[in-house]
Amino acid sequence: MPLYEFSCKKCGTIFTELRKMGDDKSAKCPECGSDDTGRLISSFASASSARAGGSCSPSGGG
Ligand SMILES: [Zn+2]
Repeated sequence: MPLYEFSCKKCGTIFTELRKMGDDKSAKCPECGSDDTGRLISSFASASSARAGGSCSPSGGG
């Protein structure tokens, strides 16, 4: 099961919940119990490839 990330719009708590595929119902905040939460976009496999010392191409006349 995929792990979804939610953020409470009331207290701002970020929490994760295991959800079934297709189940996009709002989760309940474990902190304040509010169901006014929004699902965040899980950014797995984030490409964190920082290149150091890149060669910048000189901008020619435009
Ligand atoms: Zn909350």
